[in-house]
Amino acid sequence: MLFHRHVPRILLLWLFAAPAAGQIQFSADFDNGRFDSTAVRGDTLALYPDVPLHVRMTGVRGETRFLSIWRGTDYRMRSGHRMVYRYEGESAWQHCDTGYVDGEWYHFGSTAQFARDTVYLAYWTPFTYGDMSEFMQRIASHAHVRNAGPRGITAQGRAIYGFEVTDAAVSDAGKHHVVVISRQHCVESPGNYVAQGMADFLINDDGPAAEELRRRTVFHFYPMASPDLVYHGCDAEKGGYGSTNRQWAPGFADSVALDDPAFEANVLRRAIMRETGGKVSIGFDVHSHPGSIAQWYYWGAKSGPDSSAATVLVDAISQRDAALHGTPPLLSPVIAQDLFSTSCDCADHWLHFTTGALAFTLEPGSVPPTDVRRTEGAGRAICEGILSVLDLRTTVDTAEPRVSALTLVGFPNPFHEHIEFECSLPEGGEVQLAVYDMLGRKAVQVVDDARYGSGRQRIAFSAASLRPGVYVAVMTVGKKVQTLLLQRLP
Ligand SMILES: [Zn+2]
Repeated sequence: MLFHRHVPRILLLWLFAAPAAGQIQFSADFDNGRFDSTAVRGDTLALYPDVPLHVRMTGVRGETRFLSIWRGTDYRMRSGHRMVYRYEGESAWQHCDTGYVDGEWYHFGSTAQFARDTVYLAYWTPFTYGDMSEFMQRIASHAHVRNAGPRGITAQGRAIYGFEVTDAAVSDAGKHHVVVISRQHCVESPGNYVAQGMADFLINDDGPAAEELRRRTVFHFYPMASPDLVYHGCDAEKGGYGSTNRQWAPGFADSVALDDPAFEANVLRRAIMRETGGKVSIGFDVHSHPGSIAQWYYWGAKSGPDSSAATVLVDAISQRDAALHGTPPLLSPVIAQDLFSTSCDCADHWLHFTTGALAFTLEPGSVPPTDVRRTEGAGRAICEGILSVLDLRTTVDTAEPRVSALTLVGFPNPFHEHIEFECSLPEGGEVQLAVYDMLGRKAVQVVDDARYGSGRQRIAFSAASLRPGVYVAVMTVGKKVQTLLLQRLP
């Protein structure tokens, strides 16, 4: 029997109560639980997932039938992938020892029969919202951890967490700000382990690299960007919530209510600007799809003023990863796409253009799904790689514009009603100058496509229409962009 995957769940539950389906029951009423539909198909139990599976099965003790996953609608199962399972009441995840692709189907199972009645089955070792909350409790009072707690609450009342790691005995003045966002996408639990590996290294390691990083940087972690989606096991595109990638698109915030908690990116944008002062040296948006057949890639500044620093960084991370763990590295030195030449709507794009960060999307490669230690180790390699570029980046205190001949400053700043911008253009061109609020919504268009010659220009601006608060001025001349954080006083 083969049922269409959109057969209503209630009908399928009824089918499973029927004798032909045996006594196995599937359920997903738990943190991160998700299955879409199931059916008996010959001597196998067929699963038709829309999104990554994390399902509770009861009645499986001694079960000998294989399980099969339908690979339609881009559900990514690779030959050699191993589903994981754990028994109720145990925390350790184990591999299914068999898994192979056969046309549209991925068949898997264990040659040893399940020894207990209830097991949890998952695509990759899960990192649930509950795991996140436990991690936050574990680190919150550590000496190198600061400001650990919710940055906002989701539409369904879950915390969007953040925390900082730095050496509290060293003043923040002159420190680099590094932003790490992870887990926009439910399936990408390896990304959470990578970020956790970064944090664990920075918090707990006593070696010279971790010590120097704590002394010279403030790491800002936002480790679970989409707690509701993770809880429900829904990936953004398919969960009916709208993509969390697109929440970072320029202009997105114009289309939603200012404080609508359904849009987690708003919470993160505000937190990042507040906590970094709007100047980020390096930013990582950590993804990692365990079923991806593509080599992982960076998405960063391949061309433009930051390209040499980007190359230094990805090479350093990759070499460190290989040295720590052996080849091949989980993090190859490939910058697959160019932030400057694509219309990316992701967090790295926003970070780069709003804060000046050298920003990347990371897609670390897949490893066996219970090898979370290896995945966490990639986090350490990222941290150690960062040391190679700290000297190439300017910090908040030097207040120098980014490495770019286009400069933008404002006098006075903070200001009351009037501010005068001063810019210098390396060459003439069509100039755009706009002021955005901290959610990325345009507040005022100051200059709209006016032709300016090269050299120094002054632009007077009356800000009577702006409410007191912090804003970002963004100047664009051709492909060059310069930003300036502004504060409007009452
Ligand atoms: Zn992703």
